[in-house]
Amino acid sequence: MRPAGAAAPRRKRFGQHFLHDPAVLERIMEALAPRAGQHLVEIGPGRGALTRHLAERRDCTLDAIEIDRDLAQLLAPLFADFPRCQLHQADVLEFDFAALARARGARLRIIGNLPYNISTPLLFHLLAQASAIDDLHVMLQREVVERLVAPPGGKDYGRLTVMLAPYVAAESLFDVGPGAFRPPPRVWSAVARLRVRAEPLFAVSPHYAAVVSAAFMQRRKTLRNALGELLSREQIAGCGVDPGARPETLSPADFNNLAVRLDRAGA
Ligand code: SAM
Repeated sequence: MRPAGAAAPRRKRFGQHFLHDPAVLERIMEALAPRAGQHLVEIGPGRGALTRHLAERRDCTLDAIEIDRDLAQLLAPLFADFPRCQLHQADVLEFDFAALARARGARLRIIGNLPYNISTPLLFHLLAQASAIDDLHVMLQREVVERLVAPPGGKDYGRLTVMLAPYVAAESLFDVGPGAFRPPPRVWSAVARLRVRAEPLFAVSPHYAAVVSAAFMQRRKTLRNALGELLSREQIAGCGVDPGARPETLSPADFNNLAVRLDRAGA
């Protein structure tokens, strides 16, 4: 394979911290374990550290989405060597994964050492297209992974946990120290696996997001106070939920029961 060429200037605004530790790259590939005929999508290939390993799986397709024009140019020779690989110079937050899955004729496997500055909106963007996705193997700031896998009751359990829970099963695979990247970030990272569920855990109410957001807006408030504008104390209690409880003690199903109550109230 031809090398991707000289380094492009690093752009801080795109969260560019490039992986260089071969052991970490190998662990990601082991966790991903691609099988023949699968459709891989890499978010933010950067200088191609992981891309090379993915492209070498010649029995899979690879689509990579990179916003930085200079990096896309740098990667072009690498993609020229692999007819089953395509580089999209685009903003992943606007990328249509559903259209790509239709074009490939199957659900996608998403991989990436994600730009941490957009990780939450990116996870929500992916979630909105969950039916196009099989699973995700993503490097994130460790605190974000802790939030993804948090059980109810603790400080990490919050809006992100509860919003994703109906649609994906999240698992933290391993932690990665700052030294694995150039330049090193200030924080630790972790690789997570998110498997999109065949069916959501429950029929998600159209008011789910509104109830979850309101509940966690000020997490020290009780539900009665946080949801005061949406549901009365009696309506909350009628869902089998203690109005004096704090939001982090509720399961995703509890939040959905509250949202369904709001549906019935005709909000
Ligand atoms: N995958 C490479 C690696 O591990 O060395 C680079 C990872 S770096 C943390 C994040 C990458 O995502 C950068 O290449 C950056 O330019 C790209 N990126 C940042 N924002 C993006 C966006 N909105 N859409 C697509 N790519 C983006």
